[in-house]
Amino acid sequence: MSNTHPLKVLNYCPKCGSSDFKASGERSLKCNSCGFHYFINSAAAVAALVTNEKGQLMLVTRGVEPNYGKLDLPGGFIDPLESAEQAVARELSEELGLEVKSMKYLGSAPNEYVFSEFTVFTLDMAFEVKAESLENLKPMDDILGYRFYSEAELDYDDIPAPSIKQFVKHFFEKIRQSRNPVI
Ligand SMILES: [Zn+2]
Repeated sequence: MSNTHPLKVLNYCPKCGSSDFKASGERSLKCNSCGFHYFINSAAAVAALVTNEKGQLMLVTRGVEPNYGKLDLPGGFIDPLESAEQAVARELSEELGLEVKSMKYLGSAPNEYVFSEFTVFTLDMAFEVKAESLENLKPMDDILGYRFYSEAELDYDDIPAPSIKQFVKHFFEKIRQSRNPVI
């Protein structure tokens, strides 16, 4: 277990401040003073796969840590009490001014990263998104820019998040298979 794992970092009860706040199994901590029980869960997040008329895939440049300046799919964390579909529509609107016409759930992949010296676990859900229009998009919020890529134009090393890399690889694999169907 890394030193940034929540079980190693969280030493005090967030409710009463007691230092008698101990691991209770592998994914929770329990306070022996007040009984508060904290669970280490995955944070739910969404990623959108948006294509242009040439079949190229949109990737954005991150404007926030972790991985500032690296490539990502548009998307982000699902807010409390929000659905995954609402989060897709909200993130695309906030990051690009893009309006969603339709979306289809593709699948999910887990991810973990270290932020403020604390390991964050996420479950990233991928959606294929058709936009109302790809005109007049504007990078805003936590992205610096966007571009549409064919697979040949893409270096997978520029996509640091393993879950996102997996979604992008699957996307281009599917395109290759549809061009060269297995008989
Ligand atoms: Zn407590």
